[in-house]
Formats: sequence, structure tokens, C-alpha cells
Amino acid sequence: MIGRFAPSPTGPLHFGSLIAALASYCEAKTQGGKWLVRIEDLDKPREVAGAADHILKTLETFGFEWDGEVIYQSHRNPLYQEALNQLQAASMIYNCDCSRKEIADSADHGIDGLIYPGICRHKEAIRTPSASRVIVDSKPIFFTDAIQGSIEQTLAQDVGDFVLKRADGLYAYQLAVVVDDFEQGVTHILRGADLLNSSPRQIYLQQLLHYPTPEYAHIPIANNANNEKLSKQTLAPAIDGSQASTVLKQALAFLGQDPPMDLVQCNPTEILQWAKQHWDIKKIPHQQSIVLS
Ligand code: GLU
Repeated sequence: MIGRFAPSPTGPLHFGSLIAALASYCEAKTQGGKWLVRIEDLDKPREVAGAADHILKTLETFGFEWDGEVIYQSHRNPLYQEALNQLQAASMIYNCDCSRKEIADSADHGIDGLIYPGICRHKEAIRTPSASRVIVDSKPIFFTDAIQGSIEQTLAQDVGDFVLKRADGLYAYQLAVVVDDFEQGVTHILRGADLLNSSPRQIYLQQLLHYPTPEYAHIPIANNANNEKLSKQTLAPAIDGSQASTVLKQALAFLGQDPPMDLVQCNPTEILQWAKQHWDIKKIPHQQSIVLS
């Protein structure tokens, strides 16, 4: 059993990312598995200098210990290109030179942005630079999420052919995450429910690349009082290392694990010990988001 925490270094760790770290850690460790940390720094323009180191230091302050070396996606472009070549050889990829405006003018809204209407699928002459899209189909994709239950999505209808490599040369999250989870032998993916809608795309790519599909569990995301996801954009505060015990207890309460009041008197390592001993994934609320009180 191998689990992982895969933060993007777009800012310091906030409560929303801590709960994903904590839940993936407890789930892996209670099953006697490994817990990996992967820095998802593919999108260099969105990266904040020093954020990756800050995230790792904060994880240490909170008592987390990861197995093996930390992997950085920015060092792994050849692996992503290899997967893209494999899909190209199977004729599942085409180039797309559509501008955002061209897509916006002819596309409907889907589950996660605009549904790409396939404009370039049969276009003869494609301008450069172009993006690479994968061809999707109308077979529904089903999976059972350990927290959110049965999920069904039809990519052709809900998403459309999606981008695997952008026109500016950046590999897309959907491709990189599938390649890395496979390459690292990840068997259990536990993360925020904001990525629930991405899982069918990832399962589809796993099928095309002949990779096994891991088990999925999507925890509720933490929203602020305006019911917005905690993120850099919504100015979520960084978690405070000097309050690690209090914050860890709050995170366990958020995850439905009923931590006792006096747990805050323990140090972070002792709290994680308690968390591992009492961890029960079934107690996590079956919601996609919860407003923090
Ligand atoms: N890097 C993504 C994020 O920080 C998480 C990706 C994943 O867990 O699959 O939101």
C-alpha cells in the first residue's frame, strides 16, 4: 500500500492542504503502507519562490515523516513526454491551435470549465505552437470512492478532449499526476474533493496507458465563511507551526475523528501517534465541502 501527498508550491501550507496531508498520512500508515511526498511544481509561472521548502519544513514541524526522497515534477519531463509518445503512437492525441476565444465562442460549460467541442480533431493545417489533446469517448467511467461513494462521468459529454501538453510546452496536471502515481507505485490516492471531477480523466488515461487504477478517496474540502475553498486566491492564512498541536487537533476534528480535548497538550508527534491509533476513514464526513466554523 502506497499513499501520497502532492502539494503544488503556489504558497505556504494552509489548513485545506494540511487535512489532505494528515488524512493521506493516517490512511497509509494505519495500513502499514508508505507515505510519499511529491512537489507538483510543473506550472512554474504559478509557483511561489521558496514555497516548496516552506511546505516541507512545515510538514516536519507538524511531525510528518515521509518515505523515500521527495519527488519534484519539474525534473520529470522526459517521463511525461514518453507517456505522450505512447498515446501518440496509439493515435489518441491530436494537435490543437484553438485560442481561448475560439473555444469560448463554440463550447458549452461542462463539469470543469468548457467542454472542448473537438474543433481541431479533423483540422488539416494546425498553426504552431499547438497544444496536445487526448481523444475521449462516450463510454461512462465508473468508480467507487471510499468516501464519496459511486461516481460516474462520461468524458465526451462532461469534459471533451482534454489538454495533456499546453501550447507553451507545459505538461498538464492530468497527465503528470497519472504518470507519477504509476511510476511511484501509488495504490491509494486520498486528496481533496475538488479533484473528484478529475479522477475519471485520470482513470481514462490509466486505461489508455495500461496502468492499474488506484483506489480513490476524496475528503471534504475546507471552505471559508464565504463558502469559498481555502486557497491562495481566497487568502487562506498559512498554518502556524507554533500552534501545531492545536491545528492538528482541529484537522482531526474536521476529519470526523473525535480527538479528545486534552490532545492539544501533546506534541505533534504524539498527536500523530494518537491519530494513527484511532484513525477510521469511515468517520470522515461524506461531503464534498465543509464550512470551517
Ligand atoms: N497538486 C494538487 C494540489 O495541490 C493535488 C494533486 C493530487 O493530489 O492529485 O491541489
